[in-house]
Amino acid sequence: MAIAIDGPAASGKSSTAKAVARELGFHHVDSGSLYRAATAARARAGGESSTWSEQSALDAAQIVSLASTEFGFEPMLDGQKADSEMRSESVTGNVSLVAKMPAVREWVNSIVRRAGSEYDVVVDGRDIGTVVFPDAALKIFLIADPAERARRRLRERSGGEPSAADVEEETRKILLRDEMDAKQSGQAPDAILIDTTRLKQEEQISQIAGLARAAHRQR
Ligand code: C5P
Repeated sequence: MAIAIDGPAASGKSSTAKAVARELGFHHVDSGSLYRAATAARARAGGESSTWSEQSALDAAQIVSLASTEFGFEPMLDGQKADSEMRSESVTGNVSLVAKMPAVREWVNSIVRRAGSEYDVVVDGRDIGTVVFPDAALKIFLIADPAERARRRLRERSGGEPSAADVEEETRKILLRDEMDAKQSGQAPDAILIDTTRLKQEEQISQIAGLARAAHRQR
């Protein structure tokens, strides 16, 4: 059984998907982390990102392997954990470019579909309910006000309350990434739209876990 959680940048997809997977005993698959891994791998190979070819990105992605975690797996680079590298500003700035490459999308989609054929999964991304698992048992599309998404991202990074100037700058970056990702993102017509702007994270998790349990019972 697959549960798809899609939505724009910093809408809380991954943390929600992870918590829902934990509640249901499913595997969590963060498709964005695979695009980030491919981007970090390509960056390691060197050169200006404007010159990166699709084939060079696919070749570079060969250093990506998957390590099992308690509730799923995480990508490694050259057999090592590389989370901070994959979440760095430079990878975040270039990931949309690499994610546009059809060969990279096929590479990610085959990994995600394989996980879905072996386990019950909660997958988060941009096109999970539309392209990767169009028959998912439950599709959620998370949205939140851009400034609120920026605030959450900054709090997560620094722990403290961000300044208005920092929120403004982060909002600009998030909106830019939404725009760059627009082509490969989509809300499935049968997805349930949840606006989390005024929801606490626990409320968002329990709401989606409840929907997931109901979908599970119906199978
Ligand atoms: O979810 P996260 O922000 O980590 O995703 C990083 C990037 O990966 C996105 O900005 C987007 O370019 C790409 N992505 C995608 N399709 C997905 C998941 C992520 O194109 N299903």
